Amino acid sequence: MLNIILFGAPGAGKGTQSDLLVKKYNLTHISTGDLLRKEIADGTPLGLRIKDIMASGNLVSDDIVVEMIDKAIANDTNGILFDGFPRNVAQARTLDELLAKHGRSLTCLVSLDVPREELIRRMLERAKTSGRSDDNETTIKNRLVEYENKTLPVANYYEQQGKHIKINGFGRIEEISANIIDAIDKL
Ligand code: AMP
Repeated sequence: MLNIILFGAPGAGKGTQSDLLVKKYNLTHISTGDLLRKEIADGTPLGLRIKDIMASGNLVSDDIVVEMIDKAIANDTNGILFDGFPRNVAQARTLDELLAKHGRSLTCLVSLDVPREELIRRMLERAKTSGRSDDNETTIKNRLVEYENKTLPVANYYEQQGKHIKINGFGRIEEISANIIDAIDKL
């Protein structure tokens, strides 16, 4: 059973590539960002608590996302594509524990490598139509800082486990997905 993290900075193309990969390998797509945005859209108590944090581009607390992931793993039978999780090393350690609890382990972390200027360009382009409260110039910069400080070490954490697959994320969408699939099929 495949359990894969699709990893990369905001704007790296995780959402786009996730859609292709979940179809190809029949995986359950778990995007913590999507789950959190749904809480906000539904106006739940959790949604009210996290609305301003997300709008600022900061990460929400680990407890909140870990609970979501715990439930998702417990309910899944296909294998999971994690998108936007783990966002720091503490979350990565917890993910390993949760997977082990369910007799699973992480197959690999696929990271999409995209130059910073291209990330900013893509996010500003997306901001024109996304309606996301965190797609504006100030917040985009903060999200990149959060990524560099807290999230990037996650790739290193899995590198040490020999599970890091690095893919060039700057190019044609089909070419990038073909490279990802190639790397996964070689495992
Ligand atoms: P995303 O859609 O993955 O870009 O996430 C949007 C926002 O949701 C982030 O800027 C964070 O505020 C929050 N978020 C999503 N996933 C996580 C996570 N794993 N840990 C903490 N915050 C998260």
